Amino acid sequence: DASVQSLPESIRAKVADHPCFSEQAHHFFARMHVAVAPACNIQCNYCNRKYDCSNESRPGVVSEVLTPQQAVKKVKAVAAAIPQMSVLGIAGPGDPLANPQKTFETFRRLTAETPDIKLCVSTNGLTLPECVDELCQHNIDHVTVTINCVDPEIGAKIYPWIFWNHKRIRGVEAARILIEQQQKGLQMLIDRGILVKVNSVLIPGINDQHLIEVSRIVKEKGAFLHNVMPIIAEPEHGTYFGLTGQAEPTPAELQAVQDACAGDMNMMRHCRQCRADAVGLLGEDRGAEFTLDKIDAMEI
Ligand code: SF4
Ligand code: SF4
Repeated sequence: DASVQSLPESIRAKVADHPCFSEQAHHFFARMHVAVAPACNIQCNYCNRKYDCSNESRPGVVSEVLTPQQAVKKVKAVAAAIPQMSVLGIAGPGDPLANPQKTFETFRRLTAETPDIKLCVSTNGLTLPECVDELCQHNIDHVTVTINCVDPEIGAKIYPWIFWNHKRIRGVEAARILIEQQQKGLQMLIDRGILVKVNSVLIPGINDQHLIEVSRIVKEKGAFLHNVMPIIAEPEHGTYFGLTGQAEPTPAELQAVQDACAGDMNMMRHCRQCRADAVGLLGEDRGAEFTLDKIDAMEI
């Protein structure tokens, strides 16, 4: 995999057999997400809370929310059925770190009970700084932070509000706090030697030009990968940004920004923005085989 060759040795080894970073590996190693985190502490203009968080997964599909106990049972059931299962992620349907009890209870149990499975988590970053110490205690392989901007003026167009210190904060002030927390959390993870991937949602006319600056800053800090995903405008999401529908980028627009941000790292181009409860190899979703009713009926 040519894209992997350009990484430092220490990171290359971790990435080479990881289904989410190496397209080749994704044909041999399976991944799954468990949806244990329903709440969110911010509002993104491109999100409709009825659907999964687009921190990592495709918005527009609803996942069945599991308790930590059900999630652990599901992981064991899937690992027994799919021997290539190597990575477990928590990505929603809300923000995993806005549900710290549920997310950390799941991680604590999996670290103890399925130590061979790598764990990952994705977050909007608002509460990341206060969660870093706890994250370090688990079998965490990498953390994904969704960073759509580093400029509060642009942020105010993407995030109408955040919930912070028991209050709803709006506008530029809200975006300023979110950006500060994301950058602080990113730095703390890097300082502790945890791999950090940054996701950005490309929103034409809002942050398309700005993402190049985002990319420069997060890579300078030490994020090993910057993954640009297109905004997905589903009709069910209604209107975005107070307009009648925000356009999705064209494939050419997306590729131009991805090229500018990826440099020589094009590892994530195979990412399919899976559901928050996806199960299986690349392009495959066996989630329907492991729904709650089926798992509850299994003897594990
Ligand atoms: Fe891999 Fe992308 Fe799916 Fe995550 S969302 S499991 S990175 S393909
Ligand atoms: Fe929706 Fe995720 Fe944004 Fe929260 S962080 S508002 S769940 S897209």
